[in-house]
Amino acid sequence: MPITPLHYPLAFALSKANKKLILPGLVVGAVIPDIEVPIMWVFFSDLPDHLFLHSLVGAATVGTALAVFSTWLLYSPLISTIFRVDKGNLKQACSLSGMLVLSCLIGVLSHLLLDFPMHWFNPILWPWVNPYDIVGPLVLFFAPYGPINGTAYWMANRLTNAAMIVAWIPILLYYRDKDLWSNHWLGKSHTEKF
Ligand SMILES: [Zn+2]
Repeated sequence: MPITPLHYPLAFALSKANKKLILPGLVVGAVIPDIEVPIMWVFFSDLPDHLFLHSLVGAATVGTALAVFSTWLLYSPLISTIFRVDKGNLKQACSLSGMLVLSCLIGVLSHLLLDFPMHWFNPILWPWVNPYDIVGPLVLFFAPYGPINGTAYWMANRLTNAAMIVAWIPILLYYRDKDLWSNHWLGKSHTEKF
């Protein structure tokens, strides 16, 4: 995975590409598949640490459902407490709706899209295709420099993380004097109407 929060810039870009999408749903969807990683480490250490939630079938079902419930129930209290974003606006954005479900689904799929090129195994078509049969294109690109589960993966991983950090900086700079946290977590200034 890119470091999990580094999925944020893609979620933000998607919210700008289609303004009907709900940024909180995109953001939560974009990070939620990685909650399986520590669970796999602890309870299923003989299996790949990316599996069910990183498969299309798992992402579109359980992953999206988890994202919807987390956005609906947890996003407003957490973000309003930590970042002082207006709670009323957050609650309105995070209320249950078809658009919230769609935003979560797209967020989860954006996670898989970003993970795919930089992993040396991909459970994207699990359970039908063995994850170890699908090597990410960026890992293949770096394969001349070392093993796909070693140096090539390391290089693909670092490049992806660096690209996402570079993508995030302009977002923070652009909004630094413009209601930063509201734009960052809600997708709007607190005065903008829905
Ligand atoms: Zn991931």
